Amino acid sequence: MVKRIAIFGSTGSIGKQTLEVIAAHPDKFSAEILTAYTNEKLLIEQALAFNPNIVVIADDKKYHSVKEALAGTDIKVFAGEKSLNEVALMDNYDLMLAAIVGYAGFKPTLNAIGKGKTIALANKETLVVAGDIVMQKAFENKVPIIPVDSEHSAIFQCLVGEGRNKVEKVILTASGGPFLGKKPNFLVNVKRDHALQHPNWSMGAKVTIDSATLMNKGLEMIEAKWLFSLQPEQVQVVIHPQSIIHSMVQFEDGSIKAQMGLPDMKLPIQYAMAFPQRIHSNFPRYDFKKPSTLSFEEPDLRTFRNLALAEEALQRGGNLPCILNAANEIAVFAFLRNKIGFLDITAMVEQTMNKIPFLQHPTLNEYFESDGEARNYAASMIHM
Ligand code: NDP
Repeated sequence: MVKRIAIFGSTGSIGKQTLEVIAAHPDKFSAEILTAYTNEKLLIEQALAFNPNIVVIADDKKYHSVKEALAGTDIKVFAGEKSLNEVALMDNYDLMLAAIVGYAGFKPTLNAIGKGKTIALANKETLVVAGDIVMQKAFENKVPIIPVDSEHSAIFQCLVGEGRNKVEKVILTASGGPFLGKKPNFLVNVKRDHALQHPNWSMGAKVTIDSATLMNKGLEMIEAKWLFSLQPEQVQVVIHPQSIIHSMVQFEDGSIKAQMGLPDMKLPIQYAMAFPQRIHSNFPRYDFKKPSTLSFEEPDLRTFRNLALAEEALQRGGNLPCILNAANEIAVFAFLRNKIGFLDITAMVEQTMNKIPFLQHPTLNEYFESDGEARNYAASMIHM
C-alpha cells in the first residue's frame, strides 16, 4: 500500500530530502500535500514534479502566482497560516512529515495529532514549546510520533525490541558545530557566514545557527525528555565531532546500544516514513576499513552557555522551554540579519527567561501567551 505523505515545509532542507526519498520509492510513498512559506518558485517546481493533491503557500501574497502556475493541473492551491492549520485536518493523507522550522510548525502538527495522523517529527520546537500537551494528545489519539531528528531516530532505533526494559539514560551525541574548542574571545567576533558553515551536516539556516551555539542540543534534550518519557537526569550530552554515532541508550544492566552511520538525514527520514519496516537505500555506507577515529568529550558549558540555559529549562519545566525557544528564534533571526552578535543570542535568551513570569503547569493558551510575551520582550532588545 502506498503511504500518502503530507510534507509541511517541503521547500526546506528536510522537506527536499523527503521528496528525494519519495522519488526513490514511488511504489511505497506519494506526496499528497506540500507546503511552503514564501518560496513559491520551488513549491511550484515540486508540485509539477510530484503532482500532489494540495499545495499551501503560507504567505498569502504569493497565492496568485502559485495558482496561475498550476492552473493547468488538478492541484488545489491554498494560502495563509489558517489554511496550513486546516489542511492538516484533512483526510487525504496518512503521515505528516512535520518539517516546518520553529514555532510555526506547532499548530499544524497539533491538528494532525488530533486527527489521528502518524507524525514523522523533524520540527523539534513542537515538543519544546508544549511537550506535555502534545504527548498527552498523541496518547489520547493513539498517534505514533516517530522522530526524524537523527539523534532521536537513533534512540528510537535502539529502543525497538526492548519492550519494558528499563532505560538508565540516553546519550545524545553532538558534533560540537563549527566552533568546537573555541572560547568567548573568539565567538564574540563570529559573523553569520562563518556560523552557517557546519562541518558535517547541510541544514536550514536556523538549525545551523542553533548547532553552532549548541542551542540545538539543548532543544534536543527537551525533545528527548518528552519523546521517551525521561527524567531530566536521564538525558546526557556528549561531544562526538565525527557524527558517526547518532546517539546511544544505556540500559539498567549497563549495556549501551548505539546507532551509527554516515551523517545523512535521508536515512532517519526514510526510517520514520517506512517504520516499522526498513527499506533499501543507496546512501553511502560507513567503511570500517578506512582509517578513522571516533572521539568523545564533555561539552564546554561555560563557553556554550545556551546549552546550560536549555538544561535549566529542562530541569525546571513549565513554560520555561517555551520562553527559551521563543527568545532563541527571535535572537537567531536577528543574528542572521546581522542585527546582533553571536554571543548576544545567549544574552537575549537568558534575559528573556529571567523576565517572563514562570508558570509550572501552563494551559495551551498560557503557552501561546508565554511565547508571544517572550518574542515581544526579546525583540525589544534588538536595536534597529
Ligand atoms: P529550513 O529552514 O530549511 O526549511 C523550513 C521550511 O519551513 C521551509 O519549507 C519553509 O518555507 C517553511 N517555513 C518557514 N517558516 C514558516 C512559517 N512561518 N510558516 C510556514 N512555513 C514556514 O529548515 P530545516 O528543513 O533545516 O528544518 C526543519 C525542521 O527540522 C526544524 O525544526 C529543524 O530543527 C528540524 N531538523 C532539521 C534538520 C536538518 O538537517 N535540516 C535535522 C534535524 C531536525 P520557505 O522555504 O518557503 O521559507
